[in-house]
Amino acid sequence: MLNDEELSRYARHLVLREVGGVGQAKIRKARVLIVGAGGLGNPAALYLAAAGIGKLGLVDDDTVSLSNLQRQVLFRTADVGRPKVEAGKEALNSLNPGVQVQAHDVRLTAANVMGLLDGYDIVADGSDNFATRFLLNDACYFAKKTLVSAAVTEFEGQLATYKGHEPGCPCYRCLFPEPPPPGTVPNCSETGVLGAAAGVMGALQGLEVLKEAAGIGTGLAGKILMYKALSAEFRTARLPKDPACALCGTNPTIRDIFGHSTAV
Ligand SMILES: [Zn+2]
Repeated sequence: MLNDEELSRYARHLVLREVGGVGQAKIRKARVLIVGAGGLGNPAALYLAAAGIGKLGLVDDDTVSLSNLQRQVLFRTADVGRPKVEAGKEALNSLNPGVQVQAHDVRLTAANVMGLLDGYDIVADGSDNFATRFLLNDACYFAKKTLVSAAVTEFEGQLATYKGHEPGCPCYRCLFPEPPPPGTVPNCSETGVLGAAAGVMGALQGLEVLKEAAGIGTGLAGKILMYKALSAEFRTARLPKDPACALCGTNPTIRDIFGHSTAV
């Protein structure tokens, strides 16, 4: 049962026939881990906290820098120099004290990832490097957790939901079998990123997490959504499961996460 404060706070959700009290109760029960408190994880976290997700975990070992503030809307100028997860937890708590925010001031590694996933139902990947993306994909597959994965670079974004542990659903490796060789793909500090484009993708990521939590609508499992900010275009393509996938295919060669180096 929702209390009086919740009935008022979530009134605009409660009048939605697809959400209502039942959906809001599911949202309150959900435990979501956000990996990367950056340009994607910030808007996703804000919308998920505002929506009343029960438990929200933030994983990041970085501190807030001045160049983050152009897109990382969870932080204020006074937060520069503070650990991101600490400043983020404070901001999310002040937005919605009903949400249990867990700050994980660590870098995701093969040694800690399974323990971190243990306390959560849905995972949102907003990380900025391939080592973390592949590690998280493999760990979510073995832990049977839904992974909502967003990426953004310059003016373009991608979003997909991976449930490789479910029949017919692809994982991230079905799309990209292996990480690209180090140094071949520039990161966002080299290429730049339009802040609001990251905001669009992070908000969409939060939305897909909410749909998974509330069990409403049609999610992005088996699909990939692509956004081109400069031409204001969205496109959704089918993303089939690859039977030859080394992780979720019929003859997998990846049997655990320990092929990943312990420090990524
Ligand atoms: Zn796969």
